[in-house]
Amino acid sequence: MRQLVELQLKSTSIKDITNGYPLILKEAIENSDLTIEEGSLLRLVDKNNGYVATGYYGIQNKGIGWVLTRKEKETIDLKFFVKKLGEAIRKRANYNESEDTTAFRVFNGEGDGIGGLTIDFFNGFYMASWYSEGIYSFRKDVYTALNEVVNTRGIYEKLRFNRNGQYVEQDDYVSGEKGEFPLIVKENGMNYAVDLNDGAMTGIFLDQRNVRKALRDKYSEGKTVLNTFSYTGAFSVAAALGGSIGTTSVDLAKRSLPKTIEQFAVNGIDYESQDIKVMNVFDYFSYAARHDLKFDVVVLDPPSFARTKKMTFSTAKDYPKLVKDALKITNDDGIIIASTNNASFNMKKFKTFIDKAFKETNTRYKILEEHQLPEDFAVPHNFPEFNYLKVVFIKVMKPGK
Ligand code: SAH
Repeated sequence: MRQLVELQLKSTSIKDITNGYPLILKEAIENSDLTIEEGSLLRLVDKNNGYVATGYYGIQNKGIGWVLTRKEKETIDLKFFVKKLGEAIRKRANYNESEDTTAFRVFNGEGDGIGGLTIDFFNGFYMASWYSEGIYSFRKDVYTALNEVVNTRGIYEKLRFNRNGQYVEQDDYVSGEKGEFPLIVKENGMNYAVDLNDGAMTGIFLDQRNVRKALRDKYSEGKTVLNTFSYTGAFSVAAALGGSIGTTSVDLAKRSLPKTIEQFAVNGIDYESQDIKVMNVFDYFSYAARHDLKFDVVVLDPPSFARTKKMTFSTAKDYPKLVKDALKITNDDGIIIASTNNASFNMKKFKTFIDKAFKETNTRYKILEEHQLPEDFAVPHNFPEFNYLKVVFIKVMKPGK
């Protein structure tokens, strides 16, 4: 039987929870030193034991659980999950009907009412990502609900939490048809190869869909494009399909080479006409400067933290330096596409990093576009801090203009 634990909210936290704040922070609880089992249901109450919300207990990097409902009579059972998944899928009807795009997020955690769980659609297959042992304890009901509300070709899953403190490499297959990988999905008419059973990542970050489209449609024709931290080269593919006269993809991971070749190949692009470098981006910046290489478009999409033998990089600290490095090898009138998925700062702060880099190099700039999460990555109303993606398209102005 699932435990039910009553937790008293601090009076200062009640309003947020009532207004839709979905995360249960340890600091929000009066009696927070209780030992609670992962997956327990939490009855959140005020100091007079008055009902505020129901949640579940699941430790993530932030918070100790998520609110599931603010209705006292609503029970957390199969019917609840059918309702939540059904609502989420109906909201995305336009994606379901698109032939041009066959990969998108079906369920986005707290934005769809269940923090700690996301579900992505890949050409008939569904992939669930579980962010705590607590939410994973609801697995059976969630999969039953999913099969009730959609026809799944097959289901895969990723465990994004450590079991007994250890990351477990597992077979991600759950049920239905077994996929043949790479599976080809479409995104605004472009092909992408994905593998749902090959470690933590799939080959494509679906949240950058609109950025890839903008790059292809408006910034690539006749341009040279440098894609740093390129992973499987998804941005390079978009640039090549948009008419770029040459893309360069740079990533440290050895696997990025075959994976990038594959992404070009499934789009009928001769990879030999494109440059793919397996190397440290910071070494590449020096290499490019030494060889007088300059680009019309530079994409910056670093991980929030990166550690190599020689250095550590943190977006929160080092982004201005990254933009400065990029500026040295960007043509006048060129474009820098600066991206980060670091949730610890917002768009306003991100823009101050960009501004700092341009000020310190006496370079003028103009912001042409801004992107955050696309529509399918739903974010709770009134709480933009859950909208972690920030992408800014910056035009580097010619000196004296
Ligand atoms: N831009 C990619 C996603 C980047 S994921 C896309 O749109 O698909 C981050 C990537 O940065 C990983 O592939 C990782 O291997 C790479 N990486 C991390 N540190 C790096 C470094 N110092 N130099 C080059 N690549 C790095």
